[in-house]
Amino acid sequence: MRRRCPRCGVGPLFQSVYTLHEQCDACKLVYEPRSGDTWAFMYLTTGFFTGLIVVAMLIFRPDNQMAGRIAVGVAATILIVCTLPARKGVAIALEYLIQRQHADPYTVPDPYTVSETETHRELDE
Ligand SMILES: [Zn+2]
Repeated sequence: MRRRCPRCGVGPLFQSVYTLHEQCDACKLVYEPRSGDTWAFMYLTTGFFTGLIVVAMLIFRPDNQMAGRIAVGVAATILIVCTLPARKGVAIALEYLIQRQHADPYTVPDPYTVSETETHRELDE
């Protein structure tokens, strides 16, 4: 992910590495209208990575058990922490796409459609 706004692709998602902007600088899209949804995705992906690590531990059986555990622990931390901003970006993009697909056109009117119907109303009068 480019770590940019999923709607306009201009505004950055993060103000620092792990701090998210509340909304897009360019188009004012609110990134996390329901923050619980993106956290659910974060838990799932963290669980997925943990699963990968467990499999890696079963495949690679180090001669020195203690050194092996430390290496796996460090690798796991790096993997989970380093992918966090990227995963957060993916979560926000998915959230945005899902919301846009399920958006009710009557309760969340598209600005273009609204201006068009208003123009028609003016013409009728
Ligand atoms: Zn934007």
